[in-house]
Amino acid sequence: MPNNDRILLINENITTLKVNAIVNAANSSLMGGGGVDGAIHRAAGPELAQYCSTLNGCVAGDAKITPGFNLPATYIIHTVGPVWYNGTKNEHQLLTSCYTRSLQLAAEHHCNSIAFPCISTGAYRFPFEDACKIALQTIDEFLQSEYLPQKVYLVTFGDNDFKSYSRIYSNFFKLP
Ligand code: ADP
Repeated sequence: MPNNDRILLINENITTLKVNAIVNAANSSLMGGGGVDGAIHRAAGPELAQYCSTLNGCVAGDAKITPGFNLPATYIIHTVGPVWYNGTKNEHQLLTSCYTRSLQLAAEHHCNSIAFPCISTGAYRFPFEDACKIALQTIDEFLQSEYLPQKVYLVTFGDNDFKSYSRIYSNFFKLP
């Protein structure tokens, strides 16, 4: 069974989403940074950094969960994507692992809905199309055997990314 009814593409600011969990493309310190990480820390409030300071950071490919604090989302799952070094540093496997670990944490915390940004495709420079294909492949495979989360939102931030991702999504699910 294809999972395209459980994987939904939207163009939104991820901090505004009322889902059980949003995923943060964090850095290994978990203490905030630029891009989506900065936006999430600003919207969640200073309690988030306080909480994160107790977690001992996070390695690339892994994920850690925190409350959402001032966000509409209940949880934030912080995952550390790989920095792109022309594919020489295990980047594909690490990005796959970011999606799998985040989904595992969501399922363990009984999340019905989760929203992912395009991990590693900003400051970490992972090629956009490859990153989207890895996301789709990994999420689709996870959902084959897992009941939760029921809904996975893939979130772009900008019209160009949304158009590109829509094309990749349609090709992946062989939609007309
Ligand atoms: P990384 O360091 O993992 O590359 P970035 O935050 O630089 O992380 O970029 C990851 C993706 O997050 C990019 O596609 C960027 O457009 C997107 N992004 C930035 N801000 C937001 C936001 N508020 N909501 C959703 N996506 C965002």
